[in-house]
Amino acid sequence: MTAATADDVGPDRARVVLVTGGSRGIGLACARWFLDRGDRVAVTSRSGTVDEDLDVPADRLLSLPCDVTVAADVERAFSTVEEAWGPVEVLVANAGITRDTLILRMGEDAWSDVIDADLTGVFRVTKRAVSKMLRLHRGRIIMMSSVGAFLGSPGQANYAAAKAGLVGMARSVAREVASRSITVNVVAPGLVSTDMLAALGDERIGAMAAQVPLGRVATPEDVAAAVGFLASPEAGYVTGVVLPVDGGLAMGL
Ligand code: NDP
Repeated sequence: MTAATADDVGPDRARVVLVTGGSRGIGLACARWFLDRGDRVAVTSRSGTVDEDLDVPADRLLSLPCDVTVAADVERAFSTVEEAWGPVEVLVANAGITRDTLILRMGEDAWSDVIDADLTGVFRVTKRAVSKMLRLHRGRIIMMSSVGAFLGSPGQANYAAAKAGLVGMARSVAREVASRSITVNVVAPGLVSTDMLAALGDERIGAMAAQVPLGRVATPEDVAAAVGFLASPEAGYVTGVVLPVDGGLAMGL
């Protein structure tokens, strides 16, 4: 029997994909991207539900409750997917929250809640995914950062720190697992039309959107397409990169 290679991650084969924070917004668009290409997709979130009817056979979609801040939840979700379909081959570590406030008003809770969900949560799911990918000799990990990691944003010291931390984490893990044909990359969206952005209010969104060279906010599908590329066979030689999907907002940084 020939050993599995990275080429097995291809359009001819249904892959096992896990998207954290897949119940809505960017994560849901990523789930749809993989489902449209025939993959089997597990979406996780604290609610464990998906906001829309995805209209796919039940054997290709799992919707699981999993709070990425709770290690036991992460273990249970991965075990459930493995029992149903086998090891996760593509991980989209997308779940994230904001708790914006200026530094002088930022309490320990607002700091640590965001670090726990947006940075340590990605560590938890990445570690769990890597444990099986190493044996498979293939795998794709995509971490969802933000333009805020590079530009900074008033009121987002916690969020920007977490999202910048993902870059160092991704590059370290990328070096650890490269010899097994596993790639680890980061996507850094700018302004994306989701519930998270809407929370900023129309006035602030309008002011920020005016700074975007391409002159519009992104759709969740714009981000999903970049994630899909990094998970594709064509991206097999791409690892440790940060791919901005920001309409040019942070170009050159
Ligand atoms: P949404 O708020 O629309 O969706 C967030 C998703 O994450 C939901 O599915 C939510 O489900 C889930 N989630 C939140 N906390 C947890 C948790 N502790 N454990 C598991 N799941 C959780 O956000 P977006 O789609 O806009 O954002 C997705 C990612 O993209 C985030 O990491 C965000 O930081 C990043 N991003 C977003 C940008 C934007 O402009 N929208 C810009 C740059 C980056 P539930 O509440 O049920 O848990």
